[in-house]
Amino acid sequence: MKILIEGIDILTADPAEELVRNADIGITDDRIAFIVPSGTNVPGFIPDRKICGKNMLAMPGMVNAHTHCAMTLMRNAADDLPLHKWLFEKIFPIEDRLTDDAVYWGTRLGAAEMIKSGTTAIADMYLHMEAAARGIADTGIRVNLSKSPLEFHSEGGFKVLDVFDECRKFFNDWNGESEGRIKVYIEVHSTYLFDRPSLIRSSELAKELGTGIHIHLLETARERKESFEKHGKSPVGICAETGIFDVPVIGAHLVHIDEDDIKILKQYGVSAVHNPTSNLKLGSGISPVHEMLKAGVNVALGTDGTASNNNLNMFEEMHLAALIQKGVAQDPELVTARQAFMMATANGSKAVGFGDETGVLKPGMKADLILLDMDKPHLCPVNDLFSAVVYSAQASDVDTVIVDGNILMEKRELKTIDEERVMYEVRKHSELLLK
Ligand SMILES: [Zn+2]
Repeated sequence: MKILIEGIDILTADPAEELVRNADIGITDDRIAFIVPSGTNVPGFIPDRKICGKNMLAMPGMVNAHTHCAMTLMRNAADDLPLHKWLFEKIFPIEDRLTDDAVYWGTRLGAAEMIKSGTTAIADMYLHMEAAARGIADTGIRVNLSKSPLEFHSEGGFKVLDVFDECRKFFNDWNGESEGRIKVYIEVHSTYLFDRPSLIRSSELAKELGTGIHIHLLETARERKESFEKHGKSPVGICAETGIFDVPVIGAHLVHIDEDDIKILKQYGVSAVHNPTSNLKLGSGISPVHEMLKAGVNVALGTDGTASNNNLNMFEEMHLAALIQKGVAQDPELVTARQAFMMATANGSKAVGFGDETGVLKPGMKADLILLDMDKPHLCPVNDLFSAVVYSAQASDVDTVIVDGNILMEKRELKTIDEERVMYEVRKHSELLLK
């Protein structure tokens, strides 16, 4: 399939040429074939579809680099609580009752919500991952799915099950599926749920499979304090010691970090995922993102799950990420609109393992992009495009979403997901889970 997007402005996320005005974008199958001045004749390119780019802006799709997709089932079910109480007393008991069916529909709803808010790639870490994979495989979104080699059950006393073999099978079944849009990582929930031998075994499993690890790191002050009491080290130090950082790592949160942690993150090339809404909502604190950026750490953004957010809207995360650093440090120059834009796009792609082919709009890259409708009162006049996207735009301005050259949403209508059906199923499953 060949698509021609005509006469459009582009924020490319490519430092070599960040803004291209009034261009035509040619897409052949899954890739961007060309970006040329509008009206240029490109010999041999006969489009099957033309999209008018008038009053639109093209940009790389947002990357939600840390979420728990099927937590949509628990939206607004346990709020205004501190993390440990929220997780151990509210969330874990509900999760014990989760079924494959519930996760399948919850994941699909998450995908629908994310496509509608301009997200083209996600890193999903959750339970019942086989059902999650089935739920997301045909939605067209790009996804890094992580599965844990240990299962935790809180019912009848806290139990841990070893599922390393299931993990291998899940990797072999799903890694590279959906024309390569699915990537499988190993989930290591955190250094507080995994003991040292399990951390070492998990890092060895990731090395054996040639893949990466998705982990929660230093989300709360309590996590830092207990880690020093137990191990005499920060969780970041433990990861370096146990081989976790020897593979590509998506490190979620990194709120309570110090200079030594930042040095280690940089040294091992760990991607840090900042989740501003979730951290604020759970009262966890605010990650010193500007320090990580200054040190050259790859910082991406995530929503975390809907049980701690309570939506999957990356425009909100990008907006907040740019604002809270300024407010806390009383320094308006920290985290510019351009930096926040890069965190939500190119940095995110790198973090979730798709950075070689997505995150930047230029010929040869995968056609993962979104079109924003700029013909709105709150976007008038534009003046600066980075500021417009980060400070003024709303998720509902996303008009069209393309992933791998496939149109997943056009004029705000989803093409791969039956929205009504998904909402019906999630309401039904949520009611059963929460009663
Ligand atoms: Zn999380």
